[in-house]
Amino acid sequence: MAAATRLISRLTLVTGGGSGIGRAVCQRLASEGASVVVADISEESANETLGSLQSNLRGQVHTAAVVDVSSKESIKKLVMSVQTRYFQPPSVCVNAAGITQDDFLLNMEEEQFDKVIQINLKGSFLITQAVAQALVACGAPKGSIITVGSIVGKVGNIGQANYAASKAGVEGLTRTAAKELSRFGIRCNCVLPGFITTPMTDKVPEKVISKVQHLIGSLCPPEVADVCAFLASDDSQYITGASIEVTGGLFMG
Ligand code: NAD
Repeated sequence: MAAATRLISRLTLVTGGGSGIGRAVCQRLASEGASVVVADISEESANETLGSLQSNLRGQVHTAAVVDVSSKESIKKLVMSVQTRYFQPPSVCVNAAGITQDDFLLNMEEEQFDKVIQINLKGSFLITQAVAQALVACGAPKGSIITVGSIVGKVGNIGQANYAASKAGVEGLTRTAAKELSRFGIRCNCVLPGFITTPMTDKVPEKVISKVQHLIGSLCPPEVADVCAFLASDDSQYITGASIEVTGGLFMG
């Protein structure tokens, strides 16, 4: 199916949809015909993304919602409100909400470690579980859950022990979810970006950025969104339990 129409009549949920990669994913899914629920802890950011979405097709309806992915209660409310609004659970879910709280291992406070794990790893678990439960309960024939990990989960990064652990964790979570949920027609995959220019990387000092080596060139959020849209669509129907690196050849140059 042509890329521009391959997500027609899909209901999609994107956490962290208010900024950076999540926002680009919302825009890409909408441009391919999906209805998009933009979910973020920041209502203002979620609404900003909502205002930027294309809506060319009849029946394509986008909404914004506030969620804290580290709270089971908040996620339960989100999934219930989506089902009430659209009369179905989302068949595509992209877990893009995430944070960093960097410090050297020798100095890192327990709270810094816990906070990053709670949002990046536990948040991905809670969303994956809630969406999968809703899909199984309604007998949906298929679903695609995509979690934004990071190449840092594979190679580590100075000052990011908490972040690297959380991103390695989402890969294990995704592989296990893929094994358990394939019998319900639900595919689960990770996308592992390298260094992407977003508000998250705004504070990275210029001298660090200049050392980041890409083979193909530096990346922006839409390049990651391309791969998320592929994983959301039936073009990837035989791909599950995979981690796809989207790094532009980072660290290989
Ligand atoms: P970003 O800061 O631009 O966007 C993150 C979004 O998540 C924000 O809108 C924020 O409000 C939201 N968020 C934070 N905590 C939340 C919570 N508890 N509940 C709901 N929403 C919450 O960052 P980004 O660069 O677009 O990152 C998106 C994802 O991509 C993250 O998981 C990040 O770890 C991952 N990633 C980013 C890069 C990069 O270089 N930018 C590289 C690899 C992976």
